[in-house]
Amino acid sequence: MSLFRPEFWKIPAVGQADAARLPELENMLEQRLQGIAERFPRAVFATSLAVEDMVVTDMLCRLKLPVRIVTLHTGRLNPETETLIARTDEQYGIGIEVFAPDTDSAERFEREYGAASIYESVERRRECCRIRKIEPLNRALSDAPAWLTGQRRSQSDTRTELPFEEADTARGIAKFNPIFDWEETDVWAYAQKHAVPLNALYSQGYPSIGCEPCTRPVKLGDPVRSGRWWWESTDSKECGLHK
Ligand code: SF4
Repeated sequence: MSLFRPEFWKIPAVGQADAARLPELENMLEQRLQGIAERFPRAVFATSLAVEDMVVTDMLCRLKLPVRIVTLHTGRLNPETETLIARTDEQYGIGIEVFAPDTDSAERFEREYGAASIYESVERRRECCRIRKIEPLNRALSDAPAWLTGQRRSQSDTRTELPFEEADTARGIAKFNPIFDWEETDVWAYAQKHAVPLNALYSQGYPSIGCEPCTRPVKLGDPVRSGRWWWESTDSKECGLHK
């Protein structure tokens, strides 16, 4: 039996330089969020409960901005993520709006193809994401003039060109990425400073957390999103929420 055990990703240590640059980033985030709320008072923030999204949630609640906070309960979340929805509601005194998949569509997929078919082809996996994520997101955004995400440029090769503001042409609304230029340590510096509630899976080697069947821990030094849909090639690793 091999005694070799791989070392997994760990929450980054926050240094003095990270903490020192945080006030400026916080001011900028405050201004960005206030500006979005002034232009689009019924804007929607779609949180996945990732640490980035918890930073945005914390600031939205701190500023008491009239932005709706919604999340997608795919029916395939880890228990740790489900727990975090309740903890976030409790800590901030809010009620995150939860959008679930259409039951008939989800059941039909499983009946016709089987739950494990997501591992068989990118097409099948994307169909599951369409039913469990994209359609519920479309419902959540149906009367929104704009929406916000917690995406960052340095998260993956597919996000290096991410702007602050973009046009969601499919939905005909504006889309904002208010921490698009933050680094990973900026996010953790903020979370630490403000005691932001966090997913317990971060302490178990998960730097990026999606649905339970499609997420696994990441070895130290590997790309942070390599544990998402790990059986697919790098260029297909998005669920279609952020085209
Ligand atoms: Fe389905 Fe996986 Fe997509 Fe979740 S991430 S909706 S389980 S394919």
